[in-house]
Amino acid sequence: MKKIEHIGIAVRDIDTANETYSKLFNSKAYKEEAVASEGVTTSFFMMGESKIELLEATTQDSAIAKFIEKRGEGIHHIAYAVDDIMSERERLIAEGFQAIGDIKEGADNKLVCFFHPKSANGVLVELCQDRTE
Ligand code: ZN
Repeated sequence: MKKIEHIGIAVRDIDTANETYSKLFNSKAYKEEAVASEGVTTSFFMMGESKIELLEATTQDSAIAKFIEKRGEGIHHIAYAVDDIMSERERLIAEGFQAIGDIKEGADNKLVCFFHPKSANGVLVELCQDRTE
């Protein structure tokens, strides 16, 4: 793994959260993107080498809706940049981490995959690889 690519934060209302984080960083989101397959709208803020991803549920049964229902707003996942998502996913599975679903297309032009929070002390793990790499 190379670095923390981004931290994902589950929010109830992305417009309000965008305003809050624009003030926090004194800069606007550089990208807003709906990921229909995940039932979320996302926005991204640059934070030095890393990013903050805000996620709002667009459907009742999306993972973000369920997360907020259970735990309220807050840190939803930490995403780690990898060079080779296939081999890194296999490595973690061999180490006993529980994969959630397969590798898929995520927001921000990435290939992504997830590992269950119970595999990593309560924090959902995302691996992501640039699709252009
Ligand atoms: Zn993410």
